[in-house]
Parts: sequence; structure tokens; C-alpha cells
Amino acid sequence: MSSVHIRDVKKYFGALCVLDGVSINVEPSEVVAVIGRSGSGKSTMLRCINGLERIQQGRIEVAGHTITPEAGDLRSLRKEVGIVFQSYNLFPHLTVLENITLAPRVVKRIGRDEADEIGREALRRVGLEEKSGAYADELSGGQQQRVAIARSMAMKPKVMLFDEVTSALDPELTGEVLKTMEELAEAGMTMILVTHEMGFARQVANKTVFMHLGKVWEEGPSAELFGAPRTPELQNFVSSSL
Ligand code: ADP
Ligand code: MG
Repeated sequence: MSSVHIRDVKKYFGALCVLDGVSINVEPSEVVAVIGRSGSGKSTMLRCINGLERIQQGRIEVAGHTITPEAGDLRSLRKEVGIVFQSYNLFPHLTVLENITLAPRVVKRIGRDEADEIGREALRRVGLEEKSGAYADELSGGQQQRVAIARSMAMKPKVMLFDEVTSALDPELTGEVLKTMEELAEAGMTMILVTHEMGFARQVANKTVFMHLGKVWEEGPSAELFGAPRTPELQNFVSSSL
């Protein structure tokens, strides 16, 4: 498993500074939760780590790759850094297994038998092996999100990024997705997760980062950060999230 080192990163959209000198370290097998108000730059930061957005200053070292404003080899980076979004976007007309094996086959040019084997193993890890032949739209939202996680795992990433993966789900379906993420964490996956689930962050994340106005406003071991927030901004955020 791999580490992530973000050093003094700035990201602009036009004149708008969305990441204003962000530095975060994630050690191998560490789980870091990122919290903060809407618009504070959480999603943009994940997209920069995955090379989906360019940065204008600083550097990001992730999975043995270095991202700078001059870019780098983003395509090979994306094979090693998985990202799961709120909207899981499975293909409804493909089976669960076909959804999962598509990228290994097309991007990594792995043959069908081997890809199926990798896909089944990924499905086992999210507890949905028996659904391999089902069509995606026959599954519940929680099951579809777990398939999306398996789809990402099938690329054998060194780092996994999660962007509010339970936010679109009915409350009764969030638990199974959180459990899947917790199991990945226990298996030693290096993870950065943006989440509204404060209880989950506190319980599962080694470290929590509070973002505000594009900056790392406060960070620390999760128990300390939630137990004794230092800044009024984090105090307000935590009390309004209860
Ligand atoms: P969060 O995930 O914390 O809600 P985002 O990273 O999505 O925040 O957005 C941070 C800021 O960047 C917001 O002001 C948002 O409007 C702006 N932003 C995000 N993506 C784009 C884009 N593609 N073009 C212009 N502005 C953007
Ligand atoms: Mg977001």
C-alpha cells in the first residue's frame, strides 16, 4: 500500500482559489477523513489527487507518482488511485460482473477469464458474490454502491478515494456501504474519504482533516479533533452536524 503526500497545493478555477496551499500526509494503510462545509474544496482535492484536475502550485506524491503543475503521467496514475463518487454510474444493461471487469479488460487489457476471476474476488470483498450475474438496475442503491467500490478494487489500486459515497443513499442503506469501507480499511487499504458521517469518521479514520475556505483549517487524530475542536469554525461545524 502506498502513501499520499500533498504539499502546499493551490488550485484555481479562473480567478477563484479553491485550494489555497493545502498540505496533507497520509501514511500507508492510514485512513484519513475529510470533513467541511459544501464548497470548501473537498471534492476538488480528491480530484487533484487522482489527476482529474490540474494543480497550479505545489506537488502531490501518490502511489509512486508525482503530480506537479506541469502534470506528469496521469493515465498510469489513475490506474493506481481508485475513486468512488456519490453517483455510482453503473451501466444498467451490463451485469454486475461485466460492470466490474470492463476497466480491467479495456484499460489493463486483461483477458476475460482472468478479469472474471479478479471481478469475482472484488465482489467477494464487498459481500456480493451471488449478484455477479444480476443486472445493475436490479440491485438496491446500497448494493450498487458496493458494486462501484468492487469495480474500483478490481483495478487493484494502491490508494482509494471516496467522495461522499453514502450521501445519495436512503439512511437504511448507508450502513452496508460504511461497513464495506470499514472492511477495506481493516484490510490495510490507504484511504481518503470525504464524508458527512461524523460517527464513521471518528470511529474508522486515524486522522480527520477539517477543510474551510480551501485550507486545512484543523487536523488531528479523529478522537481529538471531534472531542476537542480548537477553532470556532470546526466547533460550529461539528455542532451543526449532530
Ligand atoms: P466541496 O466538495 O467541499 O463541496 P468543491 O471542491 O466541489 O467543494 O468546490 C469548491 C469550490 O470550487 C466551489 O466554490 C465550487 O463552486 C468550485 N468549483 C468546483 N468545481 C468547479 C469547476 N469545474 N469550475 C468552476 N468552479 C468549480
Ligand atoms: Mg464535494
